[in-house]
Amino acid sequence: MATNVRTAVLAAARAAGADAVRIASAAALEPARERLAASFARGDLATWPYDGDYAARAADPHTLLPGARSVVCIAIAYATPKVRPARGRGRVSNYAWSQDYHGAMRVVLNTIAASIDEIAGAAVTRVACDTAPIAERAFAERAGLGWIGKHTNVISPKLGSFVFLGEIVTTLELAPDPPLKKSCGACTRCIDVCPTGALRGDYTMDATRCISDLTQRTDPIPAPMRPLIGDWIWGCDLCQDVCPPTRRAGFGRALFAPLDDDRRAPDLQALLRMRSGDFKRRFARTAIGWRGGAVLRRNAAVALGNGLDRADVPVLAQALAADPHPAVRGHVAWALGRIGSPQAFEALRAARTIELDSWVIAEIRAALEPLNVLEAL
Ligand code: SF4
Ligand code: SF4
Repeated sequence: MATNVRTAVLAAARAAGADAVRIASAAALEPARERLAASFARGDLATWPYDGDYAARAADPHTLLPGARSVVCIAIAYATPKVRPARGRGRVSNYAWSQDYHGAMRVVLNTIAASIDEIAGAAVTRVACDTAPIAERAFAERAGLGWIGKHTNVISPKLGSFVFLGEIVTTLELAPDPPLKKSCGACTRCIDVCPTGALRGDYTMDATRCISDLTQRTDPIPAPMRPLIGDWIWGCDLCQDVCPPTRRAGFGRALFAPLDDDRRAPDLQALLRMRSGDFKRRFARTAIGWRGGAVLRRNAAVALGNGLDRADVPVLAQALAADPHPAVRGHVAWALGRIGSPQAFEALRAARTIELDSWVIAEIRAALEPLNVLEAL
């Protein structure tokens, strides 16, 4: 009977759209709690509001569902073909260029949960997907969906690491799958390719140095990190793109293909000029939508600064004079200083006389510093 229930649950998950499904025990995962707590204590996720209490809740599915006995862990592959963006366009991480995956995942997870409830003849499930606290990588690893690589993502031997993870916690007792006996071995490709040094090589990451975090935070991007971001305007895929099992896995669901070329690689000047209504029209349906337009304009400014193209100076100068958001103007000032043409310095000098925000004024002063040095010679 128990075997039949397990088989029916696995079949229901596959029928609902899971590319891989395995089952873990719902017993609290003390090593995951310790790993998370240590990472928060080191400040690896200092820009996010996590603490020891969050670590304890995330490692124990009983906080999601009292009486939990099993966690049904699923993975859906989302890699779709990518092209190197043309000059003047920004790069977007593969997970964010399609329709917002949260909606698609929620449909799959709710369908599986409904099937499990039907199999059990009672309400025995709770769905977790990004919004509820659960250490999903650790439970995916315990279930044997994959192993956590040195880039800190779960690597499925068949699907690679471009996978969305989701969990259904249930009070049903289902026989668990064993963890995989796999690791990265001597490979260091992700560590070598990371432009910011975010990966330590011991399967941990300083997320405050990761481009994915830097492009999503709302506070200013630290000046020393800005040149390292390159042309990424949302997320970063470099460490997964070079990962051998991920490369071997090929592509996932066409459902996660870019909505269009502009969503895959937005024009940076157009992005910097974008206003609220435009942002909603273009990005509300994607995973970029939740942070708002100013963060994206800020990121476009950094990418334009890194492009070092004098042709971008007029649009940057316009943004420095007129963008309503100080965070955008401050990063635009940095971009103009980085390009460093006479026209860029002229725009910075003009803005210095009218800018009222003290942080932006400090950014303008810092951007003008090379010119001051030159003039002092
Ligand atoms: S996503 Fe990019 S910045 Fe972050 S660890 Fe990977 S390579 Fe480094
Ligand atoms: S690139 Fe190599 S070291 Fe990094 S996660 Fe993949 S297999 Fe592991």
